[in-house]
This record gives sequence, structure tokens and C-alpha cells, in this order.
Amino acid sequence: MRVCDIGEFDLIERLKGIFGADAPPGVEVGIGDDAAVIQPAGKARLVVTTDALIENVHFLTRRIEPRLLGRRALAANLSDVAAMGAQPRYALLVLGLRSDANVEYVLELAKGMAELGAEHQTRIIGGDITRSPAALSITITLVGEAVNGVLTRSGAHPGDLIIVTGDLGGSAAGMGIAANPSAAASLPQEAREALLKRHCDPTPRVREGLLLARQGLATAAIDISDGLAGDLRHICEMSGVGASLDPEAIPIAHATRLAAAWLGQDATVLALQGGEDYELLFTCTPANADAVVAALVPTPVTSVGAILAEPGLRLVGPAAERYERRLHSYDHFRAPSGG
Ligand code: ADP
Ligand code: MG
Repeated sequence: MRVCDIGEFDLIERLKGIFGADAPPGVEVGIGDDAAVIQPAGKARLVVTTDALIENVHFLTRRIEPRLLGRRALAANLSDVAAMGAQPRYALLVLGLRSDANVEYVLELAKGMAELGAEHQTRIIGGDITRSPAALSITITLVGEAVNGVLTRSGAHPGDLIIVTGDLGGSAAGMGIAANPSAAASLPQEAREALLKRHCDPTPRVREGLLLARQGLATAAIDISDGLAGDLRHICEMSGVGASLDPEAIPIAHATRLAAAWLGQDATVLALQGGEDYELLFTCTPANADAVVAALVPTPVTSVGAILAEPGLRLVGPAAERYERRLHSYDHFRAPSGG
């Protein structure tokens, strides 16, 4: 069945069935009226973000199942709200669909989104559907609530430590596997599956962002969507500082190292430049380092460098020279320079 066979209003009814016809807590009016009405909790500040995924730019439909695509689209937004230290709550979904788009596909996508939303107390409360001439587009606007302080990119001070959650480069490695799944059969199954999940179904660090904000432990934070080097630069620019980064300190999973070797790539380069890991990158005072580790248990955290007064990103340690040339991150309007 195609979208043009059932029409926009029938499709909205079906989406409503998936996202829930009832208005979730805090929502006075949900899907069905001209607009949704939200009653924010107490004195919560609203944290708002939006993100678009376009077919053939951000994803290929032949490489990702619709359910995972729905999860991934929402995950990118959840991760932005997490990096602000807020609790994600409400989402609006704008779909650009070809008139011959498969209805089952669209509903699977919605189910994935509803599923991941439920894992993070987030409901889809409205949106829009528009015809798109060719590419499928998924645009989500997410509203979060910050009851405590928020985490911004601009509070890093010289002397602060630079910390990352989890490990890096896994999503880029997973993308390499997704591009060539049959050849990747030579990798251990466990590694393959873990990395594909990192790429197609990343876990936004919502819990960690909330804990850091609640306990006032981070001076600045960002989520890693463009690669460690690029996102660290964003913190530096917004904070008016520089940074030193030790490439050998970057946490990289064993599976990522195996896949990097198989791809003929350097795992550290994947970690520095590979996007979409959706880990948190944040700074804290050295005095708070132990408290950060304790607060985020069981999530691993690793110190990868320090904030400097002089602007610019400087690599340090024995591997500094090897990676100096490769320090650039993906920019949508610049051709990748290939290092
Ligand atoms: P309008 O003509 O006022 O734009 P619509 O017919 O587009 O209204 O939408 C009707 C209702 O369905 C609205 O509450 C809207 O938020 C909701 N809605 C439309 N598209 C979506 C979608 N893709 N996901 C969730 N809700 C949607
Ligand atoms: Mg509309």
C-alpha cells in the first residue's frame, strides 16, 4: 500500500495510533488539534532542538531498516538535549514522503521512533506530513525540560580536564561494515553486531547529561556528532579557549580496532573524525574528576586532554605528529579532504 492510496489524514490517524492517542503527562492537547499544548513541569526551562535527516545525504534506505531509521532520527535529537543536561519530553515529527512511499515502511519508522522515545520518557505529540518529490526526509523537533542548570558549550576554563563517555569511532566502523556486510563476515560476529548497532541504533547519553547537570559537575558539554576533533573545537570556540588532546588516550573499543584494521583505516582517525558516536564530550575541573567518575557509574569515562588558555587544538603525546595532518571533521558543505 502506498501513501497516495490512503491519503494524508488516514496516515495521520495511523501515526496517532502508534504515538498514542492519549495526551501524555504534561500535554494538555496532543495529536489531532491545530497545535499541541504543553504544560511544563514547575519552573522547568524548555530546551528545544531540531534536526533533519535526508535520504541519500544522511542515510540510504537500502542500508538501514525503517524501524532503526526511526530510532536513529530521534536519537540524534535526544543526544542534543542530553548534551544540554535536560530531560527530553516532547517531539514533533515532519515527514517528507514520496506519494508512492510504502505505508508499512512509514509506520515501521514511526514505531522505531515511539519505541526509543518511550525508553527516554519522550512522546511524539504532533507534526506534519508533506509530499517530497524524491527523497524521504525526517525532521524532528524535540522539547526537553531542564529543572537544574543546563550544560552549554561555553563554560570551559583553562586547566579543565576533557572527558568523553563510552568509546569512540564505533559508529564510523559500523558504517564501514554496513557498506559492505558480506565482506565484513570475516569479522567476529559479536564485533560486527556491536558496531552495526553503534551506527544504526546509537544510545543517546540522556542519563549521563542529566546527572552532570544535576550535580553541576561539567563546565561545558557537547555531544559527539561530528567527530571528537571537530566537536572539541566547538567547545573551544564557544568558550574562548584552546585544548590539548592526546590521541593515544582516546577510548576505542576492541571491536572498533578489529573493524578499522579490516577497513584498512586507523582506529584513532575514526575516533577523531568519525561522526555520530553520540557520546558526551565535556569538561570539568580536576577537583571534580573523581566525582564525575562516581556520578556516571556504570558508564565509562575517560580523560583525553586538557583545556588551555591559548586558542587552537593541539595534539600531545607520542602519537601527536602522526595525527596532526588528519585533524579535520566532516563539514556538510565542504568536500572531505581525505587527509
Ligand atoms: P494542519 O492542516 O493544521 O497542519 P495536519 O492535518 O497537518 O494539520 O495535522 C493534524 C494533526 O496531526 C496535528 O495535531 C498534527 O500535529 C498531527 N500530525 C500531522 N503530521 C504528523 C506526524 N508526522 N507525526 C505526528 N503527528 C502529526
Ligand atoms: Mg499540516
